[in-house]
Amino acid sequence: MKTLSKTTIEFLNRSPKLFINNEWLDASSSATIPSFNPANGEEIFSIAAANEPDVNRTVEAARVAFDNKVRDMNPAKRAALIHKLAELIEQHIEPLSQLECLDNGKPISRAVADVKAAAAHLRYYAGWADKIEGSSIPVNSPNIMVYTRREALGVVGLIVPWNFPLVMAIWKLAPALACGNCCILKPAEQTSITALYLADLIKEAGFPKGMVQVLTGNGKTGSLLSHHMGINKIGFTGSTEVGKKVLEASAKSNLKKVSLELGGKSPNIIFDDADINRVHQSLLWASFYNSGQECTLGSRVYVHKSKFNEVVDELVKRTSALSMESGLANPDLGPLVSEEQVVRVVGYIDSGKNEAELLLGGNRKEGSLSHGFFVEPTIFTTSNHSATIVQEEIFGPVVNVAPFEDEEEIIAYANNSRYGLASAIWTKDISRAHKFAHRIEAGVVWINGYDLFHPAVPFGGYKESGIGREMGKSALELYTQEKSIWTNL
Ligand code: NAP
Ligand code: MG
Repeated sequence: MKTLSKTTIEFLNRSPKLFINNEWLDASSSATIPSFNPANGEEIFSIAAANEPDVNRTVEAARVAFDNKVRDMNPAKRAALIHKLAELIEQHIEPLSQLECLDNGKPISRAVADVKAAAAHLRYYAGWADKIEGSSIPVNSPNIMVYTRREALGVVGLIVPWNFPLVMAIWKLAPALACGNCCILKPAEQTSITALYLADLIKEAGFPKGMVQVLTGNGKTGSLLSHHMGINKIGFTGSTEVGKKVLEASAKSNLKKVSLELGGKSPNIIFDDADINRVHQSLLWASFYNSGQECTLGSRVYVHKSKFNEVVDELVKRTSALSMESGLANPDLGPLVSEEQVVRVVGYIDSGKNEAELLLGGNRKEGSLSHGFFVEPTIFTTSNHSATIVQEEIFGPVVNVAPFEDEEEIIAYANNSRYGLASAIWTKDISRAHKFAHRIEAGVVWINGYDLFHPAVPFGGYKESGIGREMGKSALELYTQEKSIWTNL
């Protein structure tokens, strides 16, 4: 079991504050929200709940910062600040990863990987900061000159979930800052600690006051941001249900821009000619990574009937061997994030028991782990494609495996979902792979792999999985607006 560093312990003793204008301030109300260690259910921290006066004050500070400093900041200076933040994150890997592990529950080695990925993401976007260009457009007249500029939006609210707390915050902060916006970050109430730690690093990196602020709170704080007339854009990751509320709030307020990265129910399709050894290695983590709390989780596994028994038997065997305990002991799987999530996931498992055959798992962990939020990795099989466990995002360690026979049948199954975030195809037939990849309704297709990510590659959803593309050059469009400037010469 990893012992906690002095810095980690000291941070956990901090009193609940909001990070406004580069200062730690008390919230207008003394109400706080507890944060629990998912490994044992103990309260480890409490956060301030930002209310309307806090949100107003923060938006005002962001607007002042934008008008006075950030709008005209030299892009090379923005790049330098973002590089500095990346460097500081790398210097603080130990406390950041320990805090993430304690707050979210994930295995410590995965938390370390998350922190490194966050730094890499920042570096990628630091590189874009001084390369955000407009264009000059010929318009059939020698007397007219037209050019475009890509300008920052202004004040942006960034609302993130609890499954990859630091990484999700950085996926939004990095492009938003590279584009020259002032950011108000709202972490999930269950996992706010690393966002607060990040705030110290933001100040140390030298960002001017008001350029990045952190407001903790619950859904009410998120809703206040989404409705705020002074905010120009919300970048949101979370559930489809709340994503729709954010869009509605925009329509009811100032038509702020909205980008949404939402849920998924991704098909992972294994054809008869797949390299089965590679499938065995990948399928386990495509199914249970982050204890299933992942928007791209391959929760609908379809296997050609000729390989079905072999693939499923091996998945059951490998899954049975996974270790599960406190994230600090670096097991294969940690707990779920909260008691609420356990109740939700177990509810889905119970409905699955009525509609499908249970092949493995199916229960909350008892015994020494019963105080924590542990749920067994669970495998169902049903060919009823409208079953609840096949249609709804469970966001826990639960997959359904189903056999299929031919290609037309499987494309229909794959696309039979309100979601369209990710997908995977396993085959050695290159024509089949690409034809299939073009027909699938999802923002990402992995051929002979799963969960491959890179900061340079766009990511986002079709259908109810979202609006807009994060990562890569695409994210610059989410955090800028284009202006056309006409000159009558
Ligand atoms: P959620 O409610 O969608 O939360 C995401 C973020 O939105 C959090 O910061 C949340 O704050 C905030 N929020 C809540 N209500 C809001 C509102 N009315 N307006 C603006 N912001 C609001 O997700 P969840 O409750 O944590 O998880 C529920 C389910 O969502 C999961 O079981 C899973 O199916 C799905 N989910 C998907 C993803 C993904 O990456 N696609 C990530 C997380 C969850 P609080 O946390 O403080 O309420
Ligand atoms: Mg927590």
